[in-house]
Amino acid sequence: MKILIAEDDPVSRRVLEEFLRKWGHEPVSAANGGDAWSILQEEDAPRVAILDWMMPELEGVEVCRRVRALSGRAYTFLILLTAHGQKSSLLTGLNAGADDYLSKPFDGEELRARLQVAERILRIQDELIAARDALHFQATHDLLTGVSSRGAAMDFLARELARGFREHRPTGVVLADLDHFKRVNDQNGHLAGDSVLQEVAQRMLKCTRTYDCVGRYGGEEFLIIFPSSNEQGAMRQAERIRASVEATPIGLMEGPIPVTISMGVSISDFSLVQEASELLKAADAALYRAKNLGRNRVALAVAAQVLTGPPWF
Ligand code: GH3
Ligand code: MG
Ligand code: MG
Ligand code: MG
Repeated sequence: MKILIAEDDPVSRRVLEEFLRKWGHEPVSAANGGDAWSILQEEDAPRVAILDWMMPELEGVEVCRRVRALSGRAYTFLILLTAHGQKSSLLTGLNAGADDYLSKPFDGEELRARLQVAERILRIQDELIAARDALHFQATHDLLTGVSSRGAAMDFLARELARGFREHRPTGVVLADLDHFKRVNDQNGHLAGDSVLQEVAQRMLKCTRTYDCVGRYGGEEFLIIFPSSNEQGAMRQAERIRASVEATPIGLMEGPIPVTISMGVSISDFSLVQEASELLKAADAALYRAKNLGRNRVALAVAAQVLTGPPWF
């Protein structure tokens, strides 16, 4: 482990450095609290710090307080090193955010054991964070295609509608449905159908920007949200996706499979507080229209009317 040693006494610092090296760690040294604080704020900072209490510039306890006030960073395990033996300073140290406490003159084996505790705690902490991130990813993404889950896409839409209302900007909502997808399954098998869904999702991602949202709405339907997009913008984007799906048949072991999609587009009216469900209903009606007009096309819903065709893109 990379371990910070913040200690103003050069002899004590050298002893610590030697111990750490002997135990296979990589010491990083600071001779005062100011330097220690700078090092701990760096990108790839040590995750364990041994901080002397009494140091020039910043005392060890103050470094502890500052480290604990940083948010959104990997946990740093802090060990205070002090000549104070009293219980009151121990409490001050722990309250300032220290994880552990060692009195000077310290015993090498005791420090070694405490560093092992630090290593164990950091490992558990990292495992917890990784598990939490994996759970979060699973909850917000579709397992098959890797795009957003229906729930995450709906949350995104609700957020964008609220933001659009505040900032007077429209939101484009697109429902996309694969054409005659049942045939793809019937002719090539369900697994090939799954691969087609994966590839279509990838093409959708390629045609969108990072601040757009592509979600699997269910089965072979996708929900795509274009923040700050008016009719023209959303129709252009939808048309790009439609064209990219049609352009090249999907290459599978079973052979190339030509696929097309139909899309319905609705645009929010940012002067109104609109429910996501209204926009989805309008997009769905437009999608239905696109299907009826022969599929492989984009249709736009405008308020009560549903319009379709080239003038819109
Ligand atoms: P249309 O052009 O009218 O949309 O015709 P369609 O065949 O696509 O529509 P339909 O609703 O009849 O069929 C949808 C098919 O999508 C049926 C279903 O088995 C298939 N499907 C839904 N989810 C999945 C999936 O996760 N994997 C695969 N392989 N197929 C799926
Ligand atoms: Mg000191
Ligand atoms: Mg469908
Ligand atoms: Mg379909």
